[in-house]
Amino acid sequence: MIELKDVTKEYTKGIHALNHINLKIEKGEFVFVVGDSGSGKSTLIRLIMKELDPTSGTIMVNGKNLGRLKHRQIPMYRRGLGVVFQDFRLLKDRNIYDNIAFALRVTEKPTRLIKIKVPAALSLVGLAQKYKSYPQELSGGEQQRVAIARAIVNEPSILLADEPTGNLDPTNSWEIMKLLEEANERGTTVVVVTHNQDIVNQMRKRVVHMKKGNIVSDEKGAGYIHED
Ligand code: ADP
Ligand code: MG
Repeated sequence: MIELKDVTKEYTKGIHALNHINLKIEKGEFVFVVGDSGSGKSTLIRLIMKELDPTSGTIMVNGKNLGRLKHRQIPMYRRGLGVVFQDFRLLKDRNIYDNIAFALRVTEKPTRLIKIKVPAALSLVGLAQKYKSYPQELSGGEQQRVAIARAIVNEPSILLADEPTGNLDPTNSWEIMKLLEEANERGTTVVVVTHNQDIVNQMRKRVVHMKKGNIVSDEKGAGYIHED
């Protein structure tokens, strides 16, 4: 499903943000990526999104070699991914319904389908009543739930989340992680970058631990490993 083979990323020549990484994530897995700030977690996510290209090595996603994708194929490739960020990234001048509908309109889905899919996605995240609200009228936790609804409305095979609970309190963080786990239970492969030690310890998923551009451990059902 996702495979990195000997992947190196240098933003600056000679400085390895990722250093000969090998990583294989199977369809349907739930994986946490942990590690200190600057260890290469976001670089890993951005390479999988093809927002960046590796300096060397190969990245395969759903059987496709990302290095062989043509420029014009990239938007289509990205639509097969759901992505969630720490800062929500909702469109401030559109209401919640339109924020999610937007993700469907770019794929040219017919309006009658959009009218079914948007409320369904909002129900999944527990916000069916809020469809007319604007992002700034919602709490941080609610905004992140909208971002998840938007990420899953196209039924992506892969959901990538880069510190999705970084701006949230513990209660909201748990709610977001539960939504990601539910998406995983419906069959989506989920990769979550996080610093939330309690959540990693309690959820007992596969944990990929990065340090200075290297994967220093990769264990199923692992707790979070302290740096010091
Ligand atoms: P993390 O997400 O684990 O905090 P990043 O993947 O953002 O780490 O960064 C890994 C390394 O790459 C860091 O040393 C960071 O300074 C460097 N880096 C990240 N983005 C850029 C960039 N756009 N230009 C130059 N260096 C970068
Ligand atoms: Mg980061």
